[in-house]
Amino acid sequence: MSSISSGLQDIYRRIEAAAVEAGREPASIRLIAVSKTKPAGMVREAFDEGHRLFGESYLQEFLEKRSDPLLEGLPIEWHFIGHLQSNKIRSVIGKVALIHGIDKISTARELSRQAQRQNLHAEYLLEVNTSGESTKYGMAPDEVLSAAETLFTLPAITLRGLMNIASPDAASAPKEFRKLRQLLEQLRDAAPNPEQLSELSMGMSGDFEAAVMEGATMIRIGTAIFGARGVL
Ligand SMILES: *Cc1c(COP(=O)(O)O)cnc(C)c1O
Repeated sequence: MSSISSGLQDIYRRIEAAAVEAGREPASIRLIAVSKTKPAGMVREAFDEGHRLFGESYLQEFLEKRSDPLLEGLPIEWHFIGHLQSNKIRSVIGKVALIHGIDKISTARELSRQAQRQNLHAEYLLEVNTSGESTKYGMAPDEVLSAAETLFTLPAITLRGLMNIASPDAASAPKEFRKLRQLLEQLRDAAPNPEQLSELSMGMSGDFEAAVMEGATMIRIGTAIFGARGVL
């Protein structure tokens, strides 16, 4: 068995165990295989194992990978999980099912503008900086509710939920995941269409079990499936 195949199976098993422990349905948690810095051949290998959901962080790398002959035309569901500047928004619309890393009203406005211009619809998550680390992207938690009043009005795009990257400190991560879940609940109370606000993208290789315990609906796993990344 290849290491990608055993990595995937191991993660599926651990998701299931964490879900059962949390009293949740394992199928309510989706696994995003994060393939950034990894070659198209490794994505193809995971695809051939039956995996369909992949996440990429770097725009140029993503655009090249999706049109690689090994992957082009396959029914892959791509998610963009990296930070996106306004001037890059145009290039991902229509190519990904979900954009995870929007953290400013201005970027969401640009997403809305470009989606309208291209006659498309885009779905996105708001990235929240729940750890307060200055090195992290993400909107401050106390700004989210007032920002959402604007976000809810923007045409051609739909806010589907929240995303965070927890601090590496294993003792704080669960609290940060819980904070994100509570914020989503507050957002749903204020939303015109709360049923659309259902996603919590949280948890990575080192902390996804805690995220599942706190209600993650999408976890983003790179290293534990594809191995360590070199520097890009
Ligand atoms: C790279 C990355 C991941 C995957 O991290 P691992 O620790 O390798 O599982 C998840 N989310 C985001 C936003 C990333 O950039």
